[in-house]
Amino acid sequence: MDIKYAIGIDLGGTFIKFALVNQDGEKITEGITPTNAVGGREEVIENIVAAIEKLLRYDPALKSKILGIGLGTPGIVEDGVVIGGAENLPDWCDLPLGKILQEKFSLPVFMDNDANLMGLGEIHYGAAKDATDVIFLTVGTGIGGAMYLNGSLYSGFRNRGAEIGHMIIKSNGKQCECGAKGCLEAYASTTALVNDYKSRVDVEKSDVCIDGRYIVGKYKENDPLAIEVLEQHWDYLSDGIAGLINVFAPQNIVIGGGISEAGDFYFESLCLSTFKKTMQETSQFTTIVPAKLGNQAGIYGAVSLVFANRL
Ligand SMILES: [Zn+2]
Repeated sequence: MDIKYAIGIDLGGTFIKFALVNQDGEKITEGITPTNAVGGREEVIENIVAAIEKLLRYDPALKSKILGIGLGTPGIVEDGVVIGGAENLPDWCDLPLGKILQEKFSLPVFMDNDANLMGLGEIHYGAAKDATDVIFLTVGTGIGGAMYLNGSLYSGFRNRGAEIGHMIIKSNGKQCECGAKGCLEAYASTTALVNDYKSRVDVEKSDVCIDGRYIVGKYKENDPLAIEVLEQHWDYLSDGIAGLINVFAPQNIVIGGGISEAGDFYFESLCLSTFKKTMQETSQFTTIVPAKLGNQAGIYGAVSLVFANRL
């Protein structure tokens, strides 16, 4: 069989990751380049174009076997157009990026939101292989997510939804970046965890950088405050996850983001907290698992979008 290839682009606010991947999920070549968001919208587009050109130059013999370009971007994407919602990129709205790249390279372009593609990467190549019903959450600065239902990504009408981080878990609660109050993200993101911890220690006196890793380290040393804030974190996060399980009864809940690399104890505690809150029937077939692909999930999701459409 003639092996086919796809170009994957993972556009972030700081870096553009790019790779040429074959249909078995093997990377042929890859790279990373600064997004240079401060340079403005045209500059970011030029940097994406340069990354694709680099991949196309890598092996001219493969060029005719490349099925298309997959691209994950922050924001809401509808039919290859970035509608908006990408705060970390300049003027990143009403942008027909799919069309621009398609005309430039004469290759089909498939685009989606970055968190959706991270989820898709984990489903096709990572933690939830062969599953048909999966909810993916990435817990970091914020909480992003993807829903894969009945064998395909689901993001609501015209791809506007799946904003898992903005499920409201507390009435009239903490202010969220989205403008609402009480969102899951405002309580259970790593940012929220770190803020909880910081608000309880004398930050002025402390000369260490307090981040998720620091709190996890303290937890392992049996520091009472670290134990308290992490237990609170699991309680908040499990509120969101339990609701998702009751609604969707997924086979897997996949958790990505830096905090998910904390270790087995993180998942044991999260499971304990979650399954206390779910209905027995809805959660009967659900397991909560760590993401496997780390910061490569977006690239794998981007290429799997191409293969899913073109193979
Ligand atoms: Zn929100």
